[in-house]
Amino acid sequence: MERTIIVKLGGSVITHKGSSPPTTNDENLSRIAKELKSYKGGLVVVLGGGAHGHQSAHSHGFGNPNTPKEQLLMGIPHIRHNMSILALKVESELNNEGIPTIVIPPFTIVTLRNKSIQDFSITTMKKALENGCAVVIHGDVCFDEERGASILSGDTIAVFLARQLDVKSIYIGTDVDGVLDDNPKLNPSAKHIPVIDHNNKEDVLTKTGPSMNTDVTGGMSKKVNELLELAKQDLDIIIFNLTVPGRLTSLLLGESTICTRIMP
Ligand code: ADP
Repeated sequence: MERTIIVKLGGSVITHKGSSPPTTNDENLSRIAKELKSYKGGLVVVLGGGAHGHQSAHSHGFGNPNTPKEQLLMGIPHIRHNMSILALKVESELNNEGIPTIVIPPFTIVTLRNKSIQDFSITTMKKALENGCAVVIHGDVCFDEERGASILSGDTIAVFLARQLDVKSIYIGTDVDGVLDDNPKLNPSAKHIPVIDHNNKEDVLTKTGPSMNTDVTGGMSKKVNELLELAKQDLDIIIFNLTVPGRLTSLLLGESTICTRIMP
């Protein structure tokens, strides 16, 4: 069996980010489940919050540093409910494709302190992977020792797990071709950056900005910052466009495709 990989499904790809009440992008989800079948090793699928996470988080004051603790805590059931619906949907798609899959919700295994991970128990996840189960985990609201509650993003989870598990690759799927020299949603002539490493990282970081969507967790610049800290020789770190059919399959089969690689 091949080594474990982490695949992050961007909220912008698996949900209709502007939809209220939140809706899943079923066409993308069933295609992605089929593409994931081409990998024959351990699989951790990390979900971004998209419409299910960000809107409810926003409506309860997450993202605003002045929101009182009590208000944040009151938001927990609403956010958890939406994220559970999204996770269940992905779990069903993967099981339907014959990939035995379980969901492990961060709320039950993570505590935060000032938005940073304080405790994150991965015992059950390791056991599930050892026993041939794919794991779905997702951006979530978690108890925070300082703030009452905070949002833990899918990107942060993916980076944390890449450090804790023996993983071969981390693939970050989003709705653009990787990192460009300007936000492609605002500047259609932005140029694609195929590799970010110690030679160009400072320059690239000045060019990545926040997401265009109701995103309480950081957008592209936070992704690149976190992934650069993870960069090491024997780990493939890739940001790619998951809205384009076939690119995930190419990556899983080790074939070349349009993407941004993050290297030391
Ligand atoms: P996801 O929901 O897929 O995790 P985000 O919305 O958090 O993705 O981040 C991806 C978004 O970041 C893109 O849709 C794009 O609008 C924005 N972005 C800002 N600057 C850049 C850049 N330099 N290169 C690529 N994307 C960028």
